[in-house]
Amino acid sequence: MKQYNPVTAEVVKALQDVVGEKYVKTAPDVLDVYKSDESLAPSYWRTPEVVVLPANTEEVAEIVKIANKYNVPVTPRSAGTSVSCGAVPVYHGIVLLMERMNRILEVNEEGMYMVVEAGVRTIDIQNLAKSKGLLYAGDPCSSDSCLIGGNLATNAGGNKAVRYGTTRHQVYAIEVVLPNGKIANLGAPLKKCSTGFCLDQLVIGSEGTLGIITKATLKLVPLCPYRLDVLAVFTDLGKATALVPNLIKAGLNPTSVEFMDNNFVRSASDYSDLRLPHYEDGYYDIISIETFNEDELDDKMEKLAAICEACGATDVVEADDRVWTVRRNCLESTRVFSKVATSEDLVVPVTKIADCIQSLVEESKKYDFRVFCLAHAGDGNLHFQILKCDMSDEEWEKQLEEFRDVAYKYVYGLGGRLSGEHGIGFKRLDYMEKYTDPVELELMKSIKRAIDPNWILNPGKVISAD
Ligand SMILES: Cc1cc2nc3c(=O)[nH]c(=O)nc-3n(C[C@H](O)[C@H](O)[C@H](O)COP(=O)(O)OP(=O)(O)OC[C@H]3O[C@@H](n4cnc5c(N)ncnc54)[C@H](O)[C@@H]3O)c2cc1C
Repeated sequence: MKQYNPVTAEVVKALQDVVGEKYVKTAPDVLDVYKSDESLAPSYWRTPEVVVLPANTEEVAEIVKIANKYNVPVTPRSAGTSVSCGAVPVYHGIVLLMERMNRILEVNEEGMYMVVEAGVRTIDIQNLAKSKGLLYAGDPCSSDSCLIGGNLATNAGGNKAVRYGTTRHQVYAIEVVLPNGKIANLGAPLKKCSTGFCLDQLVIGSEGTLGIITKATLKLVPLCPYRLDVLAVFTDLGKATALVPNLIKAGLNPTSVEFMDNNFVRSASDYSDLRLPHYEDGYYDIISIETFNEDELDDKMEKLAAICEACGATDVVEADDRVWTVRRNCLESTRVFSKVATSEDLVVPVTKIADCIQSLVEESKKYDFRVFCLAHAGDGNLHFQILKCDMSDEEWEKQLEEFRDVAYKYVYGLGGRLSGEHGIGFKRLDYMEKYTDPVELELMKSIKRAIDPNWILNPGKVISAD
C-alpha cells in the first residue's frame, strides 16, 4: 500500500505562504465537513489533515509542488456532490477546494464558446449561455450545486446527453495543473484537430487522478426555440422500458429519455408534495424533443404519441415543471428512508436497457434492502438507489456484495460497464480492478505512473496504487 507523510506544521506553513493564512484550514470542525461527499457511505469517509483554497492556477501549481516535495497526497474537490466517494481524501493529506476560482472569463457569442474557471457553478454557465440565446448542453441533475471542474473530472452526464453527449462533448480546451506542478493547456477551440494525442480528453473523466483542471473553454450551441416535454405513463415495467429502444430507432433525436420506477414516482412525488398521474402504480418515461421549426416539432410529437400508444402507455401528457421537479428530487427523496445508501450507475448498450432494467429489478427482489430504479434510459445508463433498511451492517455489506456480483457480471455480459457518469471514485475501486480487462487496466496504470510517479493526485481513486 502506498505510504505518505503526515501534514506537518512545516507543510501548513508552506501552504500558507502560497495562499495566505486565511485560506488554509486546519480546525477539526472544518476538516470534518470535507471527510465525505454525497455518497452516503460512511465506511468510505476519511478526514483531511488540511484544506486549502487557492485563488488561481499558479497557486494550485505551487500547492501541487509542495505536495510532491513533502510526499503528501492532494484531493481536488469542487462542490462535493460526487456519489462515488470521488472527493473523499482516501489517504487524508490535502483537500484542494476549487470554489474561489469562480470567474467566467469570456463569452464569445460569435465563436460560440465560453471560457470559465473550474470553480464556476454549472447552472451559472447554463443561465449565462441561455441569456445569449445559446445552450451549454452539460446538464447533470445536480447542476444547481455542482461546479464545472467536477463535471469535467467525472465526465458528468445528465438530462441532455441523449442528444448532445456528456460533459466531454461540450469542451474545446482545458487548462490543467499536472501532478508535477506544471501548467498545461490542452485542446483548442477548433472544429477538428489531428495534431498528436488527444490529451484534453484523457484528463477529462480521469476524476482528478491525472491533473487538476483550472480552466475550460466550453462549446455553446444555438438554443432550440421549440421544445415539448412529454410524460408517458405505463402501469407495466416491461412496457415502460420497451418504449426506449423503439423511440431511439424512430429517429426522433430526443434530448432526454428518462425512466423512473414506481418507487421513485412515489417517493419523489411525496418529497416534492406533488401528485402526478398514476402515483400508485405508474412507471414514467419523460421524453424531451427540441426543434428549430414548429412544424417539425408537431410532426415529431405526432410520431412520439403514436409510438407511446403502440407500446402500451396508459397516459401521454405534456410534462410541465412539476414532472421535472419530481425527477430532479429523486435522489434526495430517498434520504427520508435511510441515511445509508449506495447508488449504482450501470451503463449498457441502449438496445439492452429494457432487458437490463427488468432483469436487475427482478434480481433485486431477492434481497432485504430497498431498491429504487431510475435511468437516463436514452443513453443506456441506469441508477439503482439501494437503501439499507432494518439490517445489520454485516448483512448490508454481504447482501450488497452478492447483488453487485450478480449485477456487474450480467452488465459486463451485455457489453456494459460499471459507471456511465458518476465515475469509479473510491467506492468502485475494487470492482474496477475485478471487472476491467487486465491489459486495459495495466495501460491506465502505466499512464498514471508516467504522469504522476509519486502518485500524489487523488490516490485511492479509479485505479489502485498497488
Ligand atoms: C442529487 C444529485 C444528482 C446528481 N445527478 C447527476 C447527473 O444527473 N449526472 C451525473 O453525471 N452526475 C450526477 N450527480 C453526481 C455529481 O453531481 C457529479 O459527479 C458532478 O459532476 C460532481 O461535481 P462536483 O462539483 O460536486 O465535484 P466533486 O464531487 O467535488 O468532485 C468529483 C470528482 O472530481 C474531482 N475533481 C473535482 N474538481 C476537480 C478539478 N477541478 N480538477 C480535477 N479533478 C476534480 C474530485 O477529486 C472527485 O474525484 C448527482 C449527484 C447528486 C447529489
